[in-house]
Amino acid sequence: MIDLRSDTVTRPTPAMREAMSRAAVGDDVWGDDPSVSAFEQQVAERAGMAAAVFFPSGTQSNLAALLTHCQRGEEVIAGQFSHIYRDEGGGGAVLGGIQPQPIAHAADGSLPLDQVQAAIKGDDIHHARTKLLALENTFRGKVLPEGYVASATALAHDHDLATHLDGARLFNASVATGVPLASLCDGFDSVSVCFSKGLGAPAGSLLLAREAAFATRARRWRKTLGGGMRQVGLLAEGCRHALEHHVERLAEDHAHARQLAEGLAGIDGVEVQACDTNMVFLALPEAHCRALGEFLAARGVLIAAQPRTRLVTHLDVFTADVHHVVMEMRAYFARRYA
Ligand SMILES: *Cc1c(COP(=O)(O)O)cnc(C)c1O
Repeated sequence: MIDLRSDTVTRPTPAMREAMSRAAVGDDVWGDDPSVSAFEQQVAERAGMAAAVFFPSGTQSNLAALLTHCQRGEEVIAGQFSHIYRDEGGGGAVLGGIQPQPIAHAADGSLPLDQVQAAIKGDDIHHARTKLLALENTFRGKVLPEGYVASATALAHDHDLATHLDGARLFNASVATGVPLASLCDGFDSVSVCFSKGLGAPAGSLLLAREAAFATRARRWRKTLGGGMRQVGLLAEGCRHALEHHVERLAEDHAHARQLAEGLAGIDGVEVQACDTNMVFLALPEAHCRALGEFLAARGVLIAAQPRTRLVTHLDVFTADVHHVVMEMRAYFARRYA
């Protein structure tokens, strides 16, 4: 199957499985897993951060960051459509008593600075205490403008807010722009990155910390959240393999997304929107969603067939697959509107 529903569907390659099978392991809750420790240190250095903590998922990594930055009754400013606010079960509020203050995104995915500024609460007993600004890069496949990130994090720090970046696909941003990972982390006190999306590892995220003390506190939260894992060097080795072999190739995914967008442009009734990285956004005629989904599935293509959907390219999608998808989508609509 050509699975375009998400870049989380990638499966570990034979070489990755081989690397995982050779991992040196120990009990990571005790800090004894050499593969995990080496991986944490390697990525922290590459990102220009002081330390890193390995997590089973990006959701837990983001949640531990929220819990480490904010106390009960404190507030995080985040995008209305950010993953932290919309797609993580409200974890910060459920488990930490942390109030989210969502802000509508501008078209480029940024949170307008005047609105961020207006949302920062003054010292007044009526208000929750605003504590944290959380940004997301990439957001819906778009790379946040570099100058924007610098201004937004400076604004936050000027108001004594901490800054967190949900960088689940930060390696995509780095490859798309040629900007090194460390520069993309500039201005942030903490950054979460995922290895189980387009990088192709079966699981694993890192929470990167500007200061070592933050990582120590996040590690305590990880244990509280049940994310302390034992001989987890097996997973860390999979992630390390991805870092070594699957980062530069993200450019292929970006090229494939562009080819998909170009190939699908001009179909009557279908709106196509490209982005900077590995996604193509589609608006499909609602009446056709179900039939289109079934038509494609019968031809080996899986999509989330909804009126507003996205096609996501990744390591298990090849150039021939892109041609096949374009051909079949065009065939479907040619037939329907004939
Ligand atoms: C996937 C993703 C995460 C983390 O999700 P998990 O499935 O928990 O690893 C966080 N933020 C964004 C923007 C994501 O796309």
